[in-house]
Amino acid sequence: MASNNSGTADAGNAEWLARRTAAVPRGVATGSTAFVDKAENGEIWDVEGRRYIDFGSGIAVTNTGHRHPKIMAAAARQSERFAHVAFQVIAYDVYIELAERLNALAPIDHAKSLFFTTGAEATENAVKIARAHTGRSGVITFTGAFHGRTLLTMSMTGKAAPYRPKGTPVLPGIYHVPFPVEHHDITEADSLKALHNIFKADMSPDDIAAIVIEPVQGEGGFYQTPVSFMKTLRSICDEHGICLVADEVQSGFARTGKLFAIEHYGVEPDLIPIAKALGGGFPISGVIGKAQIMDSVEPGGLGGTYGGNPIACAAALAVLDVIEEEKLCDRANEIGTRMVEALNRFKLKNTSRPMGDIRGLGAMVAFELVTERGTHHPDPDAVKAVTVKAAELGLVLLSCGYWGNTIRLLAPLTIPDEHLEEGLKMLEAALDAPSR
Ligand code: PMP
Repeated sequence: MASNNSGTADAGNAEWLARRTAAVPRGVATGSTAFVDKAENGEIWDVEGRRYIDFGSGIAVTNTGHRHPKIMAAAARQSERFAHVAFQVIAYDVYIELAERLNALAPIDHAKSLFFTTGAEATENAVKIARAHTGRSGVITFTGAFHGRTLLTMSMTGKAAPYRPKGTPVLPGIYHVPFPVEHHDITEADSLKALHNIFKADMSPDDIAAIVIEPVQGEGGFYQTPVSFMKTLRSICDEHGICLVADEVQSGFARTGKLFAIEHYGVEPDLIPIAKALGGGFPISGVIGKAQIMDSVEPGGLGGTYGGNPIACAAALAVLDVIEEEKLCDRANEIGTRMVEALNRFKLKNTSRPMGDIRGLGAMVAFELVTERGTHHPDPDAVKAVTVKAAELGLVLLSCGYWGNTIRLLAPLTIPDEHLEEGLKMLEAALDAPSR
C-alpha cells in the first residue's frame, strides 16, 4: 500500500471510499472506486498497487500523458521563479509568450488571447466577450452540448439531468437547437429548421450575440459537427453579425489529429474557448479570438485572480513544444485508426455486446452500445456494465452521450503501442456479453 502526502497511515481503496463518502458530497460523482497513488504517461496505479491503462486522460486533459518529463520540468523551473502574483496586479512573461504562441497557431486572423483556469470560465467569458462586441444578449447552443457547470454554462449545456439540478431553469435568452445526428434521426435540415424557428418565435437573429458549438461534441457523445453544417452556421453568423464560437475545450490540442478540431472545417471562428489539454494536467483555460472582438470588453471586465497561473502557463508552453516535437497530431491519427479498426472487429464478434455506431476524428474515438444488433436503440445500462467491467480488468474507460449509450476512448497521444494494445485487449474482454 502506498503512502500519501497527508502523512496519514497507509489506507486501501475501501477505507478511502468510506472517508470520501463521509467527507465529500455525492454530487461529485466518481466513475471508479479506486484511489490514485501515482500515474505515468498512459498508466495509473491505485493506492493498493493495482495498475490501470488510462483511456480517459483525466477527461481529455493529459493528451501529452501523465507527468511528461518536459512539462514537469517547465513547471518546476517556473515554480522556482514565482507561483502566483496575479496577472492583473503585475504581469509576467510566460502569460504573454503563451498568448503570442496561441495567436500564431489558432486558425484566426489577428488573434488575441487571455487566460482563465477552467473550461467553464473559458466558455462563459467567450459569451461575455461576444455580448460586449455585439451589444446583444441571445445565445444559441445545441442539444447534447456541454459547456460547464457555472450558472451561465449550465444553461448553455444541452442536457438537463444530471447537469442542471432541479430548481435551476435555463437563463433567459439561451436556446438549444437539436444537434444533427443522422443515425438518431436528426438531420442537418431538422437542425436548421429549428434554428430558424428560434429566430422567428423566440429571439430575432439581430439580438443573438453568439452561436456556440463544439466541432466534436465531448460529453454529448463525440458526435462530429458535419462540415456543411459548420459552413452554414458561419454564413448565418456573417449574415446577422453573430459571433461563431468553437468550444475546443475537449476537442483541442492535437486530440482530433489537428491542433484545433475546427481546422478540419475550413471555417474561421470568431472565438475559441480552450482548456483541458492545454495545461497537460495543470489548470489553465483561455479564449482565443479576433483581436477586434476580444478588445470589446472595457479594462477590468475580464480576468480572475488565478487566470493564467504562471506555473500552468509554463506547462502549457511545454505542452505545445511536446505536441510539435513528438508529432502528436500524426500520432492521434495513428491511434484513432488503430482503435477504430479494433472496434470494427469487436463489433463483428457474436460473443460481444451489440455495438452500434463507431466514430472517430483522430484519437477522439467513441462507439455506441445498443439493445439489438443492427439498430441504434441506446443501451445505457450496457455502457455502465462495460465501464465497471473494464475497471475490474484494469482499464480506465469513460462513458458519455446525450443518449447515455456512448463509450469514449481518450488514450494519451503519447501512449506506447504496447499499452494501447493492452488497453484494447481489456476493452475487448469488457465488451464480451455476459454468459446467460
Ligand atoms: N466545454 C467542453 C466542450 C467540455 O468538454 C467541458 C468539460 N468537460 C467544459 C466546457 C467545461 O470545462 P471545466 O469542467 O474545466 O469547467
